[in-house]
Amino acid sequence: MKNILFIAPPAGGKGTQSNLLVENYGYVHISTGDLLRDVDETTLLGKKIREIQASGHLVDDETVFELLKEKLKTIKGHHFLLDGCVRTVKQANIMEELLTEIGLSLDIVIELDVPYDALLKRATGRLSCPRCKAIYNKFFKQPFNEGICDNCGEALVLRNDDNEETFKVRYDTYLKNATPILEFYENLGKLVKIDGINDTEKMISEKIKND
Ligand code: AMP
Repeated sequence: MKNILFIAPPAGGKGTQSNLLVENYGYVHISTGDLLRDVDETTLLGKKIREIQASGHLVDDETVFELLKEKLKTIKGHHFLLDGCVRTVKQANIMEELLTEIGLSLDIVIELDVPYDALLKRATGRLSCPRCKAIYNKFFKQPFNEGICDNCGEALVLRNDDNEETFKVRYDTYLKNATPILEFYENLGKLVKIDGINDTEKMISEKIKND
């Protein structure tokens, strides 16, 4: 199996596809959004992170990579998939350095391609499980019991950045930064573009098996 990095617009399906890869192939899923959300909200850092996340802007590189480095150090020997990092070319460079430093490498970068209207609907309908990270949607993937996670029974939450206003900021940030990031990985020969609406799971499965 290949080590993966996902690049996709907000609500582009990174979380859902990541959960499938964890279930089907035993990947270790590393989401910087989750790592940041998991910082204790009663600490100064946790409060600062939540404010930035609620605004739709990016958290500083130092905080993100400190959390990421700790997580990456724990996964030696497993295949990993990175979701939500990198968000800028600067982060792509830092990521290459960090992975080399700890003896890991990235094999494939998957871009999920999803049109704006579908993204907005996914984001504004999304319900997330804060415990097991399962993802539902009030329009097209409802849990069996309303508001309760099918997997672990936790109460589902609407993320504080999944509203239309914040979604637009997140989407604009993505558009501004994505093109040079995609070029960066294209130049490294690692980029693969996949339709994020139809047959996504099947196409990803085909791409991640070692040649
Ligand atoms: P996500 O869960 O990937 O949609 O990320 C939610 C929010 O967490 C983003 O809008 C940012 O505020 C923050 N975030 C997640 N990953 C990063 C990152 N790699 N760099 C900076 N901020 C991030």
